[in-house]
Amino acid sequence: MAEETIFSKIIRHEIPADIVFQDDKVTAFRDISPQAPTHILIIPNKLIPTVNHVTEQDEQLLGHMVIVAANIAKQEGIDESGYRLIMNCNKDAGQEVFHIHMHLIGGKNLGRLIG
Ligand code: AMP
Repeated sequence: MAEETIFSKIIRHEIPADIVFQDDKVTAFRDISPQAPTHILIIPNKLIPTVNHVTEQDEQLLGHMVIVAANIAKQEGIDESGYRLIMNCNKDAGQEVFHIHMHLIGGKNLGRLIG
């Protein structure tokens, strides 16, 4: 059994967070340490520790996370200017919270990530 993280408490509204969207599948809230004017985390309500733990059963859920991210980008007014979606997996990527999350980052020129 994977251990719960602070994100499970955010999903259950047990600790404060600036939640911008929630439904029965996902929760989205502003990152506590924003790296850009818009920095929002989209997480599944179900605990999946890392991207390595995603299974075929989660296909719809992961697709839903991307759709929610795109909708939030529109709400934030950064859909046309652009944004980046990032999911870190394990140590070399710097994953700190072991409950998968998609970073939605934008609102400024982010530069090139690769190359
Ligand atoms: P990662 O390095 O991909 O695991 O990212 C974890 C992210 O969670 C970091 O950007 C943190 O700033 C963010 N974070 C950690 N705790 C909280 C919290 N209580 N509320 C909002 N964001 C958080």
